[in-house]
Amino acid sequence: MRRGKVTLQQEIEKGRGSARQVAVIGGSASGFFTAALLARAGCSVEVLERSEDLDPTPRTLIVTSRMRTLLGEVGERAVINEIRKFELFTDGRAARVPLDRPDLVIERSRLIHGLAEQAQSQGAKVSFGNRFVSLESNGSGLRVGIERTRDARTEDLHADVVVGADGALSRVAQAAGWPRQPTVPLLQAVVRIPPDMPLDTVRVWFIPDDTPYFQGARIPVYDRWTPVERRVGAGRVFLVGDAAGQVKVTTVGGIVTGFRGALGVTEAILNGGESRELRSLRRELDLHLLIRRTIHQFKQADYSRLVDLMNASTRRSLSQYTRDEAARVLWHITLSQPRLLLLGLRGLLSGASILPKNQN
Ligand SMILES: Cc1cc2nc3c(=O)[nH]c(=O)nc-3n(C[C@H](O)[C@H](O)[C@H](O)COP(=O)(O)OP(=O)(O)OC[C@H]3O[C@@H](n4cnc5c(N)ncnc54)[C@H](O)[C@@H]3O)c2cc1C
Repeated sequence: MRRGKVTLQQEIEKGRGSARQVAVIGGSASGFFTAALLARAGCSVEVLERSEDLDPTPRTLIVTSRMRTLLGEVGERAVINEIRKFELFTDGRAARVPLDRPDLVIERSRLIHGLAEQAQSQGAKVSFGNRFVSLESNGSGLRVGIERTRDARTEDLHADVVVGADGALSRVAQAAGWPRQPTVPLLQAVVRIPPDMPLDTVRVWFIPDDTPYFQGARIPVYDRWTPVERRVGAGRVFLVGDAAGQVKVTTVGGIVTGFRGALGVTEAILNGGESRELRSLRRELDLHLLIRRTIHQFKQADYSRLVDLMNASTRRSLSQYTRDEAARVLWHITLSQPRLLLLGLRGLLSGASILPKNQN
């Protein structure tokens, strides 16, 4: 993957030999991907996961085609369907958007198994049944407190760097002093697909009275960028994935953004300073926040107008660019249909917070 003139591969090569001891807390999508990247760069990496074994809940997720570029073969093995068309419905109106690059429906447990194998094949050690409980400076680095889930026995291990990939309610974040991030529960349902429904199509209904939110796990609500690094004494602590709130607040997609967070954290650990990948991820997440704020107060009439204003050129932009290219989508849509900008500004000026009431 290109970063200006320097590829991440080159950056990883630069990092080689600087064998740091890294503890990654959380063995799931973001944690295993970070562990694989760091182990490949020559770091000594241990992933600590509280579950007794690798048994992620099976769940289908929809992601953009960017996952293919980021993961290659490991991602490919998790794909179970490709989505080539989106249909948007509201108030008797419909808009159809074909996708130039198909979205991917993936099986989460297959993805996590593949990522775990990849991390181990790069040399990372994976320890199950180990819950992270505490973090403190021990002079030359960090003392990481671990509790065995089987018998509650505790032990300490040393690390130069700790990466918190432990999800929305991250204990690493709490131990290192990050403020608690807002979260909402998200419910996913298994539904029978109607016989006339094409399998390569996703249908979205904008009917705010019927679907205030598709809302069983907690997911972060991105309401501002979380700086991903903190120092604890001489040690460095990073957050990645849901632990850092790297979830698009429009679609609650966190898989691809978590992988981008992993790339950014790897760059930052290996080279120090600000990572380009993280800067670009921040811009992306901020744009999704802007879109979310814009449509947050939308009433039925606003959605109807939105669908009415979608001309051929607007649809073309939506076909061409994925949800992970928000800046391009917004730019092209504004050029092709300026009245959408006015509609958006009106929504934005209503100024309502997107956070659940008890978390404002
Ligand atoms: C119902 C639902 C549907 C979703 N649908 C989509 C979708 O369609 N597309 C999409 O892109 N995203 C979707 N998401 C979001 C996406 O699943 C998450 O953003 C992503 O899985 C987060 O991965 P992660 O590795 O950062 O965190 P997690 O998957 O939450 O992993 C955290 C890991 O840390 C471990 N852990 C936690 N605490 C500790 C501790 N103290 N010590 C050791 N280990 C610990 C946990 O056991 C877990 O294995 C959905 C989320 C939900 C809840």
